[in-house]
Amino acid sequence: MSLKVLIVDDSPLMRRFVERVLRMSGLELAECREATDGLDALAKIRESVPDIVLTDINMPTMDGESLIRCISEDSTMRDIPVIVISTDRTEFRMSRLMELGAKGYVAKPFNPEVLRAQLERVLGMQASA
Ligand SMILES: [Mg+2]
Repeated sequence: MSLKVLIVDDSPLMRRFVERVLRMSGLELAECREATDGLDALAKIRESVPDIVLTDINMPTMDGESLIRCISEDSTMRDIPVIVISTDRTEFRMSRLMELGAKGYVAKPFNPEVLRAQLERVLGMQASA
């Protein structure tokens, strides 16, 4: 399975890092695009629908929580799985985001294996390494 991924984070360094982890994890990437906040992400999703969205929460203009709400309320987007990658590891925040429709949660700083495991679980993929 060749994946189309959209990485949403206001930090260029974090976007780069997540992409590097994805590439090193052995997942086959058909496409890896980046967005700088929720609004940018919605525009990129409308251009081309990704297989999965990995999003930060704290971002200017439109944060990750609003992005997840918009995705889950849009009939053309609601089937796209979203995994949150955030420094906020409070129970309250996590359960709220899962309630809004997030499929996974990875706390920053994260171990590459944790992200890979979440991706495989969410995409229902089999570990290949
Ligand atoms: Mg941020």
